[in-house]
Amino acid sequence: MTDCLVIGGGLIGMLTARELRLAGATVRLVERGATGQESSWAGGGILSPLYPWRYPDPVTALARWSQQAYPGFSSELASQTGVDPEWTKNGLLVLDAGEKAIAQAWAGDVGARLDLVETRAILQHEPGLNMPPEEALWMPDVAQIRNPRLLSALKVNLPAMGVAVEEYAEITGLVVRHGRVEGVETSRGRITAGSVVVAAGAWSGRLLAGLGYSLDVAPVRGQMILFRARPGMVSRIVLNQGRYLVPRRDGRVLAGSTLEYVGFDKTTTEEALAELSRAAIAMVPALADYEIERHWAGLRPGSPCGVPYIGEHPRVQGLFVNAGHFRNGVVIGLASARLLADILLRRKPVLDPAPYALVDRESIGCGAGVAP
Ligand SMILES: Cc1cc2nc3c(=O)[nH]c(=O)nc-3n(C[C@H](O)[C@H](O)[C@H](O)COP(=O)(O)OP(=O)(O)OC[C@H]3O[C@@H](n4cnc5c(N)ncnc54)[C@H](O)[C@@H]3O)c2cc1C
Repeated sequence: MTDCLVIGGGLIGMLTARELRLAGATVRLVERGATGQESSWAGGGILSPLYPWRYPDPVTALARWSQQAYPGFSSELASQTGVDPEWTKNGLLVLDAGEKAIAQAWAGDVGARLDLVETRAILQHEPGLNMPPEEALWMPDVAQIRNPRLLSALKVNLPAMGVAVEEYAEITGLVVRHGRVEGVETSRGRITAGSVVVAAGAWSGRLLAGLGYSLDVAPVRGQMILFRARPGMVSRIVLNQGRYLVPRRDGRVLAGSTLEYVGFDKTTTEEALAELSRAAIAMVPALADYEIERHWAGLRPGSPCGVPYIGEHPRVQGLFVNAGHFRNGVVIGLASARLLADILLRRKPVLDPAPYALVDRESIGCGAGVAP
């Protein structure tokens, strides 16, 4: 029997499996498709929430913990696997500075670097900008990671560490007896396990249906496009009115993203393509000269105020959840995997687990998928 079975091979499931294995547990990860193909692949890899001052403290706490850990984690993974996730600190330039007072107060409180910069400095950071504003917010410590490469590295790393990874096996039900989880039913038969972790992203709520607790996680579609630009065209992560550019080391530039409440529909639309490319070219006009190489959509696991559920099921012993990371699963994933492992293994937790517990969240005043 496996000690821990993790359901879902997105970033959250893979990081959770890794943490549990590092602690010495026997771990099995089961994914219904290929690992790392859903929301975790579709994301931008920005290692900060957009407009981070808009989020509640529990999201900030996870983000700050992860941001400290990412450089070491990324270089360790690169040396262990030969796949470099390209952790890159190129800073975040926020062109709509209307919330500057709140942003500066937040930065002071949490100890983040955030400067108010004027047109000349803005252009020094990003020379290709069209009509730079008089003021912008500059966060020099914000980094990014190339999420598809991070997932490829984990795909090599997990089996090498001894995690049993099973792809193309769908979990069809949880086996619960006398208030305790005993394993799962899969499309290939039953697997018994001491503990089960649901890390199935936007699909997590479905798996838990009928167990006396309704997980408030709902899909929120995000579409993204990719310009095949050349290195140096865009240097910083640039954010304006909810639209952003993320320059990769090879010159490609991601432009994202939409926020759509359309259920489990992952199709892309012509309207989004037109709007994302319009917004990108309005920021950096030279992008109009480059081909849009790709256009895709992913389903974010939306949760109330973007606060993920990390903890044990209130009615089923041995059943744990790590889901609902909404727009920030890449940045907060490292901390949430560590915290889930701490809770499951009854270790001293790296952060206070109370805000992430599986309890009714109506009191915090926002529903699943409501973007901060
Ligand atoms: C367009 C877009 C941009 C984003 N940008 C960023 C960003 O810049 N920074 C950031 O931090 N975050 C970003 N995100 C959010 C981030 O990608 C998500 O929060 C994160 O990937 C969630 O990871 P996950 O592992 O929970 O979900 P997923 O990656 O969706 O993984 C869940 C997995 O569970 C599997 N699964 C589901 N049901 C079953 C079952 N019954 N049996 C077996 N397996 C099952 C699925 O197949 C899937 O592989 C973005 C997301 C999108 C869509």
